[in-house]
Order: sequence, then C-alpha cells, then structure tokens
Amino acid sequence: SDEREVLTYELFGTAARELAQQVADDGFEPDLVLSIARGGLFLGGALGYALDVKNLFVMNVEFYTGVDERLDLPVVLPPTLDAVDLTGANVLVADDVADTGKTLELVRDFCAGYVSDVRTAVVYEKPRSVVSCDYVWKRTDRWIDFPWSSLPPVRTRSTRPPH
Ligand code: 5GP
Repeated sequence: SDEREVLTYELFGTAARELAQQVADDGFEPDLVLSIARGGLFLGGALGYALDVKNLFVMNVEFYTGVDERLDLPVVLPPTLDAVDLTGANVLVADDVADTGKTLELVRDFCAGYVSDVRTAVVYEKPRSVVSCDYVWKRTDRWIDFPWSSLPPVRTRSTRPPH
C-alpha cells in the first residue's frame, strides 16, 4: 500500500497504555525497561510510568555509519550498557517498530547472556520482522510516520567529529 501509517501523540498515549496493560495481564514483572534510542525512548518512558518501573536504561543502536551509508547490520554505539546492570534481571525492551527486526534481535541477543528473562514491546511490528515481539500494539506493512520524527529538525547541525 502507498498509504502511510500515521501515529499521532494522542494515539501514542493510547498505544502505550494498552501495551502496558498487555504486559501486566501477562504477569510479566520487569525489573527494568531498556529503551532503544532514539525511537524507543518515548515508549520506554511511558511504559516505565504505566508499569511503575523506575529503572530505565538506554541502548544506542544505529543502522548508519555516520557517513550516510546504511550498514548490513545494526551496531551498538557507545556508551555500551554495563552487563552488571542486567545480570539476573527481568528486562522489558522497548522500541518504536520491529521492521526487519534486526535491531531488536541484536539487543535481545546482547541481553540473553546475562538476564533472567528478556521480552520485547513495540508499537508496531511488520510482517517481515525476524523477531516476533512479545507485546505488539499494531501490525502493519506500511511506512510509519511517528509524531517525534515526522517534522524535520528545527535547525541543521554543522558536522562535528564523533566524541
Ligand atoms: P529494524 O529494521 O531494525 O527493525 O528497524 C530499525 C529502525 O528503523 C526502527 O527502530 C525505526 O527507527 C526505523 N524504522 C523502521 N521502519 C520504520 C518506519 O516504517 N517508519 C519510521 N519512521 N522508521 C522506521
């Protein structure tokens, strides 16, 4: 379909509450929420409030090298998560969308060696995803416009070397 899937901030609020309810109804009690930056930060924060979890972590994952070229596989960017934070924990991974699913696959496999239980929550899951997420609000095969990235940045940044 050439129609886009449009998520508004209003609808996102509903989606986050419904996802939290799925997690609660499932009896899963996460010790921490791990957001995949940047798109997963919104859902991770909302799930933290809705599930009364204050332990929030972030993992930076990119599909881009920074020279405008897409990689074959996503890579973890620094700062990397300390394994100590994850050991023995029930982890809820939050992201905006499982498209190819490769990002979530990477994060899940990264966690799997340390954690007690790792589960994934996404607003959207596409049919081609290699990961079948535990908690999904909506399934679509369309391109999604998220409210936080539908407008361009308010200004263009000059190129700075990575730090
Ligand atoms: P993956 O292919 O690894 O599942 O998705 C990687 C990232 O690409 C997602 O977290 C998201 O930021 C971005 N992405 C994938 N599909 C879409 C889409 O339909 N719309 C938007 N705005 N971003 C997407």
